[in-house]
Amino acid sequence: MNYKLLTSDWILTCDDDFTIIKNGAIVFENTNNNNSYNQIIDIGSKDDIVSKYPNIDIEYCGANSVLMPGLINAHTHLEFSANTTTLKYGNFLRWLNSVISNREELIEKATTELIDTQLKKMLQSGTTTIAAISSYSLDINSAINSDINVVYFIEAIGSKADMIDALFADFKAKLNTALENRSNNFIPAIAIHSPYSVHPILIKEVLQIAKEKNLSVSSHFQESDQENRWLNYSDGEFSDFFNNFLNQSKSLTTPKGFLEQFKNIDNLSFTHCAVANKDELNYIKKLNGSVIHCPKSNRLLTNNTLDLEHLENINLALGTDGLSSNNSLNLFDELRTALFLHTNIDLNKLCKKLLLSATNGGAKALGLNKGILAKQKDADIISFCLPNSCEEIEDLATMIILHTNHIDKLYIQGKQIELF
Ligand SMILES: [Zn+2]
Repeated sequence: MNYKLLTSDWILTCDDDFTIIKNGAIVFENTNNNNSYNQIIDIGSKDDIVSKYPNIDIEYCGANSVLMPGLINAHTHLEFSANTTTLKYGNFLRWLNSVISNREELIEKATTELIDTQLKKMLQSGTTTIAAISSYSLDINSAINSDINVVYFIEAIGSKADMIDALFADFKAKLNTALENRSNNFIPAIAIHSPYSVHPILIKEVLQIAKEKNLSVSSHFQESDQENRWLNYSDGEFSDFFNNFLNQSKSLTTPKGFLEQFKNIDNLSFTHCAVANKDELNYIKKLNGSVIHCPKSNRLLTNNTLDLEHLENINLALGTDGLSSNNSLNLFDELRTALFLHTNIDLNKLCKKLLLSATNGGAKALGLNKGILAKQKDADIISFCLPNSCEEIEDLATMIILHTNHIDKLYIQGKQIELF
C-alpha cells in the first residue's frame, strides 16, 4: 500500500463543527490502481503526523496553503452545457418557453467533447463530485469516463396518464444501462423532475425501484411562485402553459401530497425549495431530506431566494444547476454569489455554513462517504493557496470564498488528477 502525506498552513476538515487545523497534515492511501478505493488514514497537526509517520515523504502545499475536502456540486444538468446566450432569464415561464423552443438545438450541440470540457473545468475549480441530473442519458459516456465522481440521476418526467407505461419503460431502460456501468465513481440514482411534471403513478413506480435498490433520490421542488400557485390553486402563469401544451387544467398534486410520496427513502434531496413554506420544510425535515440550494439559478429564473434561516436543522447542500440557468459550473463562483445574496446572516458564520454545504452537506444529501477530511473518509482532497496570509482563523472561510477560483492539486479517492 502506498501512502501520501501532505502538509499545509491550514486544513479545513469540514466536519460538523467546522474544525480548522493550523499547520496541519493529512495521510491517505495513494494506490494508483483504478479499482482501488483509497481512504484517509490520519489527520492532525503537522508535528504529530510527521513524527507518527517518519517513513513517508512530506509534501508541503506552499505558503498560505489550504487543504480541504473536494467540493460537491449537488445538482447540475450536463446535457444543457451548450447554453450561453440562448435561453431567456428573468421569469420562470419565459425561461421554460425558451427551453422548449431551443431544446433540440442545445442538446445536439452538447457533444461528449463539450461536456468533457465542462467536467475538466469543474475539476480545475475544485469539484470532485457532481450530482448530474440526466434527462436523455446523452451525457452518460462523459459521466462514466470522467475522473470526477458522478452520482448519475436518471430523471423521470411526464404527466400524461396515457403515457405512463411508455415513460416507465424508457426510464427503466436508462436506469439499467446506468446500473450496468456502476463503479467507484459512477453511482446511479433516481430523479423525479418536479411535482408539476411527473404523474403521481409514475412517481410511485419509480420510487419503488429506488427503495428496492437503495438508490439516492432527488427532485426539483418549489422553485418559483408560479409553481406554488399552480400546485395549490391550479392557477397563474403555469395554467396557460399546461392548457396549451398538455391540455391539462388542474394540478395532479399539492406540494404536501407530492412530499408524502417520498417516505422511507434513505438519501433524499429537494432542489431549490425557494418558495417552500414552513410546513413543507418541516415535512422535508421529517423525511430526513436535504435541501439543495442553487442561488445563481434562482436569481436568474425566478428571483426567489431560499432563506437559509428557515432551514433550521435541515441538511443544506449547494449546486450550480446546469448551464441552462447559470454562466458557470464553478462552485467557488456559486459560493461567492451566495455570500453576497444572503445578507441577513453574519458574514463569517454564513461563509462557514456555505463551505459546509459544498462539502459535508453535499455528501450527506447524496449518501456518500465524502465531504469531510477525517479518518476512513474517501480521500477526495483539494489544495490551493490564498494570495496572502490570513491572520485570524475566524476569517478563513470568508477569504477562501472571496479569493479562490482554481485549485492547485486535486485527489479523487487518493489518486492525483492531472488538472491541465
Ligand atoms: Zn435543475
